[in-house]
Amino acid sequence: MHEMSLVQSLAAQVRALAEQHGASRVKVVSVLMGPFAGVVPDSFRFAFEALQKEDPLLAGAVLELRQPDPRYLCLDCGEACTLPQPGPEAPETQARCPACASPRLSPWGGTELILQQIRME
Ligand SMILES: [Zn+2]
Repeated sequence: MHEMSLVQSLAAQVRALAEQHGASRVKVVSVLMGPFAGVVPDSFRFAFEALQKEDPLLAGAVLELRQPDPRYLCLDCGEACTLPQPGPEAPETQARCPACASPRLSPWGGTELILQQIRME
């Protein structure tokens, strides 16, 4: 489960920031998770919770995951578009270019996993 190593590097960033600010507790950790980051949000959350049990600094922290809608570049007309996240009821719906209706869309960006904000005290 590579989510665990991602969470560990995230926690290392959080610890470094808390140390810089002389904080003893972290209250909120906001993470921006690109839709093509290859991370399963539930696994990420699970790994974070496992880590919280061994780290008093993170023990009371709330994990906020923000997932922007995926962006695509059309391979036929070159138009960039943002399409809504496929829902659980229709996960395999074929995305199509809103400009030319081509199904040949290439994921554009969205692979980032960024510690966006933390609140601490
Ligand atoms: Zn197109």
